[in-house]
Amino acid sequence: MTNIKENIEILTKQVKELSFDIKPTIVAVSKQQSYLKIIEAFNAGQRVFGENYLQEAMDKQKDLKDYPIEWHFIGPIQSNKCKLIAENFDWVQTVDRMKIARRLDESCSGKIINICIQINISEEPTKSGIMPNQVDTFAKELSQFKYLNLRGIMAIPSQNKKDGNLKHELVSLKKIFVNLKNQNNNIDTLSVGMSNDYKLALNYGSTMIRVGSHIFGARAK
Ligand SMILES: *Cc1c(COP(=O)(O)O)cnc(C)c1O
Repeated sequence: MTNIKENIEILTKQVKELSFDIKPTIVAVSKQQSYLKIIEAFNAGQRVFGENYLQEAMDKQKDLKDYPIEWHFIGPIQSNKCKLIAENFDWVQTVDRMKIARRLDESCSGKIINICIQINISEEPTKSGIMPNQVDTFAKELSQFKYLNLRGIMAIPSQNKKDGNLKHELVSLKKIFVNLKNQNNNIDTLSVGMSNDYKLALNYGSTMIRVGSHIFGARAK
């Protein structure tokens, strides 16, 4: 059995120790975890949860409708899913195409959603995300949307490469973040860091870490 409560307490303490002027948000990534585990985390004080798969997330949200949870969508987005994503999530962290942004905006029906631009920081052609040199232009285009509140950037850095590469990517992300922040007062989010690299990410200025297995244990297959 995993002790979710203890994991959250330890993680919260570490986050506090590793960050100085900012208070980073912990997004508990609950994909492939049961809603009962989400309740366990909720009872330990966790309020922010991330999900990757729309249908799975909606099934759990039904069971959790009485819980005041802030839901973050962190998976790849198909354009035909935008309406349901806009209706069921408070944040969408994986916006990387204008078509998706437009559809989300059209589906908001009065509600504001917080969004992040997903960045392909390792610049691998097969990965999702905006290339670093396109971020400025994309961010400017996003400002036309009434119901999308651009809060910052999100990335999944290289996982299986040398540590040096990861650090290099974290430095680049921080630069992109600071640059956007200087242009737009609403920008306050650098979403980077998962179970295996959140400590390093916090050292490099992450304001939002997305942690799954380190809180909930291994995912069901
Ligand atoms: C699954 C996932 C996470 C969490 O991964 P862990 O290694 O379990 O912490 C974070 N971000 C994204 C985008 C994910 O898909």
